[in-house]
Amino acid sequence: MNPRVEAPITTATSEPREKWCPACKAYTAVAFDVHALFPTGLTWLGTFTVCELCDDPSDQEDTRV
Ligand SMILES: [Zn+2]
Repeated sequence: MNPRVEAPITTATSEPREKWCPACKAYTAVAFDVHALFPTGLTWLGTFTVCELCDDPSDQEDTRV
């Protein structure tokens, strides 16, 4: 019943902070740092930016030209 976990990696995210979205021209985006806790220590994976408007999967428009 329990799915087997091959390599359990604990990830930790920082507090999201407001970020300027150049597409929305507003502070609608948030940025946060993602760290992964490996047996060797804490590794910084990167900073991710998500805009609540641009990256909203429930409101995606196909704007292909
Ligand atoms: Zn945006």
